Amino acid sequence: MLSTMQDVPLTVARILTHGSTVHSGSTAATWNGTAADRRSYAEVGARAAQLAHALRDELGVTGDQRVATLMWNNTGHLEAYLAIPAMGAVLHTLNLRLPAHQLAYIINHAADQVILVDSTLLPLLAPVLPHLAPTLRHIVVAGPGDRSPLDGFPGTVHGYEELIADRPTAYPWAADLDERTAAALCYTSGTTGDPKGVVYSHRSIYLHCLQVIAADSFGITARDTALPVVPMFHVNAWGIPHAAFMSGTHLLLPDRFLQPEPLARMIAAERPTVGAAVPTIWAGLLDELDHRPYDTSSLRMVVIGGSACPPSLMRAFEERHDIRVVHAWGMTETSPLGSFGTVPGGLTPDQEWPYRITQGRFPASVEARLTGPDGSRMEHDGASAGELEVRGPWIAGAYYGGAGQDPVRPDDKFSEDGWLRTGDVGTITPDGYLTLTDRAKDVIKSGGEWISSVELEGFLMAHPDVVEAAVVAVPDERWGERPLATVVLREGATADFAELRDFLGEHVAKWQLPERWTLIPEVPKTSVGKFDKKVIRKRHADGELD
Ligand code: ADP
Repeated sequence: MLSTMQDVPLTVARILTHGSTVHSGSTAATWNGTAADRRSYAEVGARAAQLAHALRDELGVTGDQRVATLMWNNTGHLEAYLAIPAMGAVLHTLNLRLPAHQLAYIINHAADQVILVDSTLLPLLAPVLPHLAPTLRHIVVAGPGDRSPLDGFPGTVHGYEELIADRPTAYPWAADLDERTAAALCYTSGTTGDPKGVVYSHRSIYLHCLQVIAADSFGITARDTALPVVPMFHVNAWGIPHAAFMSGTHLLLPDRFLQPEPLARMIAAERPTVGAAVPTIWAGLLDELDHRPYDTSSLRMVVIGGSACPPSLMRAFEERHDIRVVHAWGMTETSPLGSFGTVPGGLTPDQEWPYRITQGRFPASVEARLTGPDGSRMEHDGASAGELEVRGPWIAGAYYGGAGQDPVRPDDKFSEDGWLRTGDVGTITPDGYLTLTDRAKDVIKSGGEWISSVELEGFLMAHPDVVEAAVVAVPDERWGERPLATVVLREGATADFAELRDFLGEHVAKWQLPERWTLIPEVPKTSVGKFDKKVIRKRHADGELD
């Protein structure tokens, strides 16, 4: 028997229309280095309509053609986020930290027709242009400044403001589109091989938004101001921009001011209530807050995810600055909300910690299972470790195959029955809390036992003299692999390796303690700010590290 419910498609157009009318007075503020430029959601909606008219009527974007953005977190990017999917086209966010050859690869692979680019990023786009297919017909530049880096581009160059000026501020949005069609495309950062395209549907974005605004998650409301420091080119800034339009949450967008000092000033001036970023950003901010006074009392929660958050970082924010840190796990392939570190009720703060330092709990829409090395299912008993596999309505079931091609499902990424193989190794408790011990490719296999690099790093970074620590596996004749600890020490630090080893020895078994140590000036980072262990392993193999 079928239900008697209406079958209304869940589309980005509905989010746009709702946000720009019901929440017309909410605002998106873009930081310009000294103050915020504010636009109401009514204005954002009107400008999104003008952009859609320009794309369709002037630039000839039709159907599900791809329109790319190479932009910081700002209001122009928000307009693109809403307009492009809501008109039925596909938003392709370009990671501005990718090397030129990878940018060219993904622009060509996606067959982008148009790129919207911030003028401050033209020097990044220029070296990519000679490698682009003629599919790219238009470049639209947002912001003032010299456009000469685009000289030689065979298509047409437009200014964003001139292009949208005087166009109608209403648009017949594609609200009744099939909700399963593509809305946005984001490529993984390609740490191994070519980047892989994940295509989000209108339905997946809509349902994911509902999760972002759920109370046991970001729980953002019309009374909040959300600060996504996580870039809008990285997994849709964790879904925050779309969710803000759905819930009326004000947005504070940092544009290109991502360094600790401007971030701290912006927080003090604009008083966001919720922030989101990877651990390296928060670690930098913590250092700034420790050294200079800022009023951060507006922040009720900061969400840290993207890589393991050292428990010491969580504690430091809470104890020294009264800011509650919540840990979350996700991937490009999971939209990204996978698990979120909120706690059960009735616990004292001390009893909450064991829950808070996990990667968090799975929501109802994300099913999880663990697969052992021999393919068997592992128990969710909090002790048995295996590779995490997930499925759900906002989890990828395949990768984009390229324009006109079928989606691809590599065996190492998808199980035979269609679950996403995350490449993350960990345990799950009976009440659904995930603890990741490592990425499968980072785990240290020493004499038949596994050593968690993440655990060693977490303890090392709790030492007051340690700024950053990354531990990688290096080949060892006797044990197969052993840990190499690479450490960044604070200026004026007095600790030596023997002391760090003893410090670590208070927390982990003796056989797990690294015997190889090396000081480095900075841990190399990936395009999205995560520790790049591939680079450290290569430097070691090349004899650059002891
Ligand atoms: P990439 O795979 O290119 O690095 P993603 O952002 O999709 O880009 O990375 C997802 C991966 O990041 C996860 O598979 C996991 O290894 C890691 N990750 C994300 N959040 C956490 C977390 N809270 N703790 C540990 N690892 C995390």
